[in-house]
Amino acid sequence: MTFTVTRVAHACVVLDFDGQRLLTDPWFSERRGYYRGEPLAFTPDGLPELAGVLVSHGHYDHFDLAAFAAYPDHEVPFVVKRGLAARVRQAGFPNVVEVDPWEQASLGGLRVTAAPARHSVPEVSFVVEGGGQSLFFGGDTLRIAALDEVARRYPRIDLALLPVNGLAIRPAFNRRVVMTAEQAAELAAVLRARVAVPIHYRYTAGPIRDRLLLKYDGTAERFADALAATEPTVQAKILEPGEPLIVDAQR
Ligand SMILES: [Zn+2]
Repeated sequence: MTFTVTRVAHACVVLDFDGQRLLTDPWFSERRGYYRGEPLAFTPDGLPELAGVLVSHGHYDHFDLAAFAAYPDHEVPFVVKRGLAARVRQAGFPNVVEVDPWEQASLGGLRVTAAPARHSVPEVSFVVEGGGQSLFFGGDTLRIAALDEVARRYPRIDLALLPVNGLAIRPAFNRRVVMTAEQAAELAAVLRARVAVPIHYRYTAGPIRDRLLLKYDGTAERFADALAATEPTVQAKILEPGEPLIVDAQR
């Protein structure tokens, strides 16, 4: 069996396991201070039919329910970090399950397991299993030691989607809130992923906010270079929005 991964933009990705599709961290609109920096591969009403939606945390650029409300099927099930369900229901999607690390949910024939994450707000990462394949979705977490447990529990990760921009908050003494490109490469190696796709790297806050509030220098190319230098057995694959990556079952 194969599965196909298509970035919508930022950390929003369509995961397609032979027609069973999940959407991660929906972000479809822009507002002041939040610019994608790349085109949007799908509008919410142009998405393929989804078996579910995964949400890692409640930041607008990962949890844009106002725009996602244009998706026609409001019975689509959500699996979200614990604490976010009420906002999903308020947005008109009644079918929602909350998870914390190592709690599981079934979406169609896919098994979703929440995994650890750390960010400026509560967050989970996710492992998705379907058709004998496993995928790790990192949201925009820091590289925390607790993520090593993913490799212990899932010795066979076929694909890892990892944030790479290394975002830090200037007014908070440059406190880092997202892993760097080099840390993402190291995590890809720890996970022994066959293929690693960078996410979360073209977003900008606009020139003024970037100068005053945010600091980041991680790019997809830096991630790919770091991985090639340190763990060439893991293949880095940079995906433009809308460009499908087909991952086959061979290893
Ligand atoms: Zn965030």
